[in-house]
Amino acid sequence: MAKIIDGKAISTQIKDELKEIVEKKKALGKQATLAVIQVGNDPASTVYVGNKKKACAYIGINSESYELPEETTQEELLALIDKLNADDKITGILCQLPVPKHIDEDTIIRRISPEKDVDGFHPMSVGALCIGEEGFVSCTPAGIMKLLEYSGIEVEGKECVVVGRSNIVGKPMALLLLRANGTVTVCHSRTCNLKDVCKRADILVVAVGKPKMIDDEYIKDGAVVIDVGIHRMDNGKLCGDVDYDKVVDKCSAITPVPGGVGPMTIAMLMYNCVNAIK
Ligand code: NDP
Repeated sequence: MAKIIDGKAISTQIKDELKEIVEKKKALGKQATLAVIQVGNDPASTVYVGNKKKACAYIGINSESYELPEETTQEELLALIDKLNADDKITGILCQLPVPKHIDEDTIIRRISPEKDVDGFHPMSVGALCIGEEGFVSCTPAGIMKLLEYSGIEVEGKECVVVGRSNIVGKPMALLLLRANGTVTVCHSRTCNLKDVCKRADILVVAVGKPKMIDDEYIKDGAVVIDVGIHRMDNGKLCGDVDYDKVVDKCSAITPVPGGVGPMTIAMLMYNCVNAIK
């Protein structure tokens, strides 16, 4: 019987731990303030931004909202980021992605000061992760490491396979598993014999963005399966990149969708915000 990794419970535990740290820092006169920028009113982004602000309120972090109209120019957005970078009161800055098409995402990511880059997307943050230095780590893969840790799943010496190589999930995930002394393979759309490679995995992390693509034929008996994907099906229910029902009896532990990786992303954003307090 597979252990169902309860991301909701673990994320609540982390947020409660952070709440205590924030209280202690406040007593020392130290305070975190997250600036949350949203350009346009994409409904999904509005939900994500709302959840991030709620999490801030829960753990005692100030949040300041900057809701900019869709027509905001890149120069106007960069000017706001410059202003927030220079403001000592602001300890973290996040710009909700995606931004409208006339704005270059990379330019925005690079403009946020690495010291306030609580999303962990700046090349300096990614570079620090790559060479094992301290820095902000992308929240979803950082959350997966916490899920493994809080579930007592050892990474050292394990065969770890990551399916997906995006800058925000797959690549930092591989680096974190490597840092934890896993033996790491990264797969992508040009990987040959994907099933065979996945079947080697003691720990399989799937961030492929294809609903239920990974079924029992990709899984070694007793593997730990981490499903990053999130998709809304025609019946309105959510599913992941893993075909949960086909896989659950074959693995030793698995993250459900919803309630697995998803809640950890915001918890780790809060973790980064707390670590941003000087
Ligand atoms: P991307 O679309 O950026 O990356 C997908 C990756 O999967 C790419 O590297 C791509 O390869 C690879 N891929 C695509 N098709 C195949 C295939 N047939 N075989 C092998 N590899 C393939 O996605 P993200 O990393 O941003 O997100 C992945 C999933 O995770 C999505 O479902 C997303 O919604 C979800 N997500 C969930 C979060 C959460 O908080 N729960 C946070 C972030 C993402 P190539 O590079 O060759 O194109």
